[in-house]
Amino acid sequence: MQSIRVAEGCARCPALASNRRCIVHGYGPPDARVLFVGEAPGYKGGDVSGVPFTRDRSGVRLQQALIELGLSAETDPRAERPRLRCFITNVVRCNPPANRTPTRAEISNCLPYLWQELDLLQPAIVVPIGNVAARAVFPRLVGQAAQPITQIHAQVFASSVTVIPLRHPARISNADLARFAEVLRPQLRPLL
Ligand code: URA
Repeated sequence: MQSIRVAEGCARCPALASNRRCIVHGYGPPDARVLFVGEAPGYKGGDVSGVPFTRDRSGVRLQQALIELGLSAETDPRAERPRLRCFITNVVRCNPPANRTPTRAEISNCLPYLWQELDLLQPAIVVPIGNVAARAVFPRLVGQAAQPITQIHAQVFASSVTVIPLRHPARISNADLARFAEVLRPQLRPLL
């Protein structure tokens, strides 16, 4: 399984470059048709493993959902280098100090890497995970400002690509996760 290392050696954000254990590059097969975009790697998760959404609670929750959707070939959601059938990246690729939310400057420093990944992957579906990712993705891909994630969770926005926001797996209820799976599953049929 491959990383796309567009941010190799990046030191644009001094606070992040000195805090991170590693740069967490986007991860998954380069021909993936579905792109998941999180906020930033977690202190106990991607910052340790080097792979987005692995190791910590929210990572394991997302990996379990990917297995159930046929977007991962694993059976164990704790796999640290999962064989994915989708691509996972973050708006910000370094863990912020004390797991804080990335600042606006950090987000704008890192966004060009996301646009590079989008150009390389040309996904059919983009899933922004949580408010930070939805706010980053909406103006560019949907042409409007994102509403709070609670209001747009599991809605389908058909634009230059299909955008289906997901509440952050650290906070999502089982019912909301099931709703997301129900909405995404038929969209996946022609792609997998
Ligand atoms: N892990 C990630 O890679 N991103 C998040 O937003 C949360 C956990």
